[in-house]
Amino acid sequence: MPTEFGSGIIVFRKFYRTQLSRCTMTLREFQQLIRNMYHDKDAARGVEGTFMWLTEEIGELATALRSGSPEEQSLEFADVLAWLVTIANVADIDLEQAVAKKYGQGCPGCGQTSCTCPDAEKP
Ligand SMILES: [Zn+2]
Repeated sequence: MPTEFGSGIIVFRKFYRTQLSRCTMTLREFQQLIRNMYHDKDAARGVEGTFMWLTEEIGELATALRSGSPEEQSLEFADVLAWLVTIANVADIDLEQAVAKKYGQGCPGCGQTSCTCPDAEKP
C-alpha cells in the first residue's frame, strides 16, 4: 500500500506518460493533425499566401534565436515546422515520404550518414 505521497507520484507518472504519448507523433501524424485542424483555410489561402506566413514565422524564429528564451525558441521552431507542413498539405506532398526519400539513406550529396562532402558545397 503506497503512502499518500507515494500514490501521488504514481498518479503523476501515469499522467505524465499519458501526456507524453499524446505529444509524441511521427511527421506524418503531425502533417495529418495540421490538415485536420486547418486544411479548409489553408486550401483557400493557397501555396503562395501560406508561403508568406512561413516566411513571417522564420523571421520570428530568427528573433527568438537572437533574444528569446529557450521556451520562446522552441515555440517558434514548432510554428515554422507547422507552416512548412501546411504548405506541404496544400501542395499535396507527403512530407514524411519526401524526407525519407531524400535523407533516409544518408546525405544526398555523398550518401554517408556522417557527411563527407567538401565544406564549400551544400550541405
Ligand atoms: Zn555529404
